[in-house]
Amino acid sequence: MKNIFLFGECMIELMTASNDATSNMLKQSFAGDVFNTAVYLKRTFPHVKVRLVTAVGKDNFSLDMIKYFESENIDTDLVFQSESKIPGLYSIQLDDQGERSFTYWRENSAARTVMDFIDESATDILTSGDMFFFSGISLAVIQPEARASFWQKLVQLKTAGVKIVFDPNYRARMWKDKEETIQAYEQAFKLADIALPGVEDFDSLYGINSVEGVIDFCQSYGISELVVKNGPASVITILDGEKELHQVTPVKTVVDTTSAGDSFNGVYLGARLADASIAESVDKASKAAGFVIQHKGAIAPKALFNDFVQQL
Ligand code: ADP
Repeated sequence: MKNIFLFGECMIELMTASNDATSNMLKQSFAGDVFNTAVYLKRTFPHVKVRLVTAVGKDNFSLDMIKYFESENIDTDLVFQSESKIPGLYSIQLDDQGERSFTYWRENSAARTVMDFIDESATDILTSGDMFFFSGISLAVIQPEARASFWQKLVQLKTAGVKIVFDPNYRARMWKDKEETIQAYEQAFKLADIALPGVEDFDSLYGINSVEGVIDFCQSYGISELVVKNGPASVITILDGEKELHQVTPVKTVVDTTSAGDSFNGVYLGARLADASIAESVDKASKAAGFVIQHKGAIAPKALFNDFVQQL
């Protein structure tokens, strides 16, 4: 059985429960970029062993969160429980025009301390993986002083033959300044075997706004498998120097683009672990992302998504 570790934060999500802007009813759920990726990977490829690497607390929200992971068949043996911390939280609110805004309470979350738990025995388990996935958000979440140890672990994993997978997923407000991000991403790109950048991220961080620019940048690091997501326009891949352009069928009625990139990543990596070709993996990933953006929230309803998977 192939197995992948996904390293990041899952948060408590509070979302406006009705479309009526005067209502203050909130619906509680759980989400976070890497967790969303894990969910879509496992739902689409149940034969891949999917393990989340994170820290939560011992409070009731944390216990419910762990139950939620398990309900999605995500393995929790590397979900650590802090004695003193609790999970981060965010809210999605709709204004009068239906525009969404996000508010976060995550500065002191349990997930920030995850590196404290990655001891030798956890590292041994991680070296047994086929892939290790992390994002720019995962990097921003861990405490800056823990990053050196994170890079050391990545080198160990890479040496053991684990494929390192990085999605830059840049969120400016999570970083002190661009310089800090650029330094951290430099390490990430150096170590990545597979990178899944979006053109938009490169524009805001490096001022690079074309697919060609992103490719040139990434190729200078010798990344063997590069997947450039260009929204509804196209996906461009380069595997061992061989470039392919993949068309995306634009969705007519987009309901909520949350998790488009996350679902794409999950299905793409699952397909690659199942030995699908690049073209087939991109095709499935694009279709899954196209499905997800027709539904509200980060995690599309399980039964509907499972029906969709049957036709994939
Ligand atoms: P994110 O900003 O979340 O990283 P992207 O905008 O890069 O996401 O989109 C990720 C993937 O979702 C794209 O590569 C594409 O396959 C799919 N996608 C995004 N927007 C659309 C759309 N309007 N119609 C169809 N597919 C889309």
